[in-house]
Order: sequence, then C-alpha cells, then structure tokens
Amino acid sequence: MSIVRNQQMRNSARSSRTCSRASCGKSASKTLTYIYADSTAVLGPLATYAEPHAYDLCPIHSEKLTVPNGWSVVKLTPETESGGPSEDDLMAIADAVREVRQQQFEQSKVSTPEIGRRGHLRGLPSS
Ligand SMILES: [Zn+2]
Repeated sequence: MSIVRNQQMRNSARSSRTCSRASCGKSASKTLTYIYADSTAVLGPLATYAEPHAYDLCPIHSEKLTVPNGWSVVKLTPETESGGPSEDDLMAIADAVREVRQQQFEQSKVSTPEIGRRGHLRGLPSS
C-alpha cells in the first residue's frame, strides 16, 4: 500500500495572499474595495482574484480600518450567507450601495417643490 500519492497535486491554487499594508506581512482574510465615485469602502470576504481598487487586509488591519473623512464603510459578513459570497455578490452589494447613494443625492438635489403654480391661473380680468 502506497499512501504517498500525488501529494504535490495539492499545490494550493489559492496561494495565500498577504495584507497589503506595507509594514504587514500577515495573510489576508478580507478584501477592501474602494468605490471612489461614492466615497465608499466595502470590506468583504477575501476576493477570489485581485482587482485594481481592491486591497487585501489581515484581520488586524481590517479591524483597524480607517477611511478618509466623509467616506463610509460597508462591512460584509460572510457568516450571514451560506456558501460564501462570490465576487459577483460583492459587486452586487457595491452596486446597491451606489444606487442608494445616487438616489439620496438626487433627492437632495431635486428639492424644488412645485408650489406657486396655482394662484395665477386666473390673473387677468376678462373684460
Ligand atoms: Zn495587516
């Protein structure tokens, strides 16, 4: 009986990613995605692949996450979802955040109610 078989096959494709903080070499457990247009940072499960605006963070740095003034942070907890969210889920949430933001923005922008429309219906005397 040979127990040793193809042990090298288990060369983990998902090579351990490390925290993107310069002074930190710990393995990452979260991925932080910046949505610059909305000033929103989304902290979610480790993304399956690296994105331009995504940064891997170790547990410590994801806990100590700070964002610039005026930015908001959305934290996704993988525990609430079974099966683990995928990149698509992340993007869907990011999109949802973006939509809400957009709506809020437009609501605050379009705050000119149409008052004063009636009242000058019959302004002119007809004689
Ligand atoms: Zn770190």
